Amino acid sequence: MNRLISLALLVLSAACQHAPAASTPAPAVSARTVLLVSLDGFRADYIRRPGAMRLRALAASGVRAERMLPAFPSKTFPNHYTLVTGLRPEHHGIVANTMWDGVIGRKFTISDTAVTHDPRWWGGEPLWVTVENQGKRAASFFWVGSDIKINGRLPTWFRTYDAKVPNETRVSTVLDWMAMPAGTGPAFISTYFSDLDDAGHRYGPEAPQVDSAIARVDLLIGSLVDGIAARGLAGQVDVIVVSDHGMVSLAPDRVICLDDYIDLARVEIVDITPVGAISPEPEYEAEAFARLKGAHPHMQVYRKGEIPERFHFNTHPRITKLVTVADEGWTMTTRALVQRNGLPKGGAHGYDNQLSSMGALFVASGPDFKQGILVPPFQNIHVYELLARLLGVRPAPNDGSMDSTRSFLRRTP
Ligand code: AMP
Ligand code: ZN
Ligand code: ZN
Repeated sequence: MNRLISLALLVLSAACQHAPAASTPAPAVSARTVLLVSLDGFRADYIRRPGAMRLRALAASGVRAERMLPAFPSKTFPNHYTLVTGLRPEHHGIVANTMWDGVIGRKFTISDTAVTHDPRWWGGEPLWVTVENQGKRAASFFWVGSDIKINGRLPTWFRTYDAKVPNETRVSTVLDWMAMPAGTGPAFISTYFSDLDDAGHRYGPEAPQVDSAIARVDLLIGSLVDGIAARGLAGQVDVIVVSDHGMVSLAPDRVICLDDYIDLARVEIVDITPVGAISPEPEYEAEAFARLKGAHPHMQVYRKGEIPERFHFNTHPRITKLVTVADEGWTMTTRALVQRNGLPKGGAHGYDNQLSSMGALFVASGPDFKQGILVPPFQNIHVYELLARLLGVRPAPNDGSMDSTRSFLRRTP
């Protein structure tokens, strides 16, 4: 009924106006563009290292968080999907990079696209769907989930993930999308660079190779910022640069072999480190728990439903009956895995999300953000609401709110 009335009013008011000349360009749907950039594995404190000049300049012109708290577990897929849904992993269902679903009957591993592209894995509503459902457009040159038809929708523009696509191609395509005539291009653009995660795993967070990777991604941020300015769009684009988690050094003598404590023939180890997802045979569950409890001073074990509240990691069916969590920098493994892959080296993440080593980057700058403010740590579940507010779209139900981010804004856009 209401829709009918507004339709009638629209027709009436259109009839009362002069028809626009055929050559008049279409009015802008919205002048604001939001660009979300992920630097996978960029630990919050990397911004203080020498190569991060452009990132520091961006922070000086906008808002930077001391660090952003990832969701638990502090892994790539759960956190990228939390950033764009505002949901914790136990609510959106991407509870790990590697997981099992009894209904789907398959194991999810991030490189197995035949499995990951099944939309049944992906709960909640990612921001590009929120945007597209509300009459605006979205574009993604890589973001976890953005090449998968979630809720029956894809971003208008997207690329199927391929780690080999040069970073410069990502940057130039994003700038081309931004420069599309007003009203025809995307309001929300996301993109992703993996350099810091790659270097951090391989060499460890303190290595010089990480400094080189910081300098490389810093150049990309510089190209984006300069490209936006060169196109005369600086007053219209909000740029938000985030990461999904931090990184900590591993050591060959910080190893916990699970087969020292439990019978591997009686459990399914779905995922192993630094969060172990363990599904024992039903008759072995109590014994496996008892054997793991207190077995190693640097490993905690929890039964599903008893995982500490602050992890918010209990309810989803994909969370296994037993969950083990290694202390910072420790590796859970098995003797066979050590035999095959050697002892741990380099870096890792996935640990307790409150550890400062797991802290993620948050820098935001643009017409809607205050200038030069440093804000206290906040959780990444709040990013979805903030971006929805910038875009002027109604957020889907989620775990976040504007409470920690409202103060970042000059005014309510
Ligand atoms: P992690 O094991 O948590 O360090 O995961 C990082 C890996 O996730 C990177 O090496 C990427 O290759 C991979 N990755 C990142 N984004 C995507 C994506 N959209 N689709 C598939 N894999 C991705
Ligand atoms: Zn990551
Ligand atoms: Zn990683």
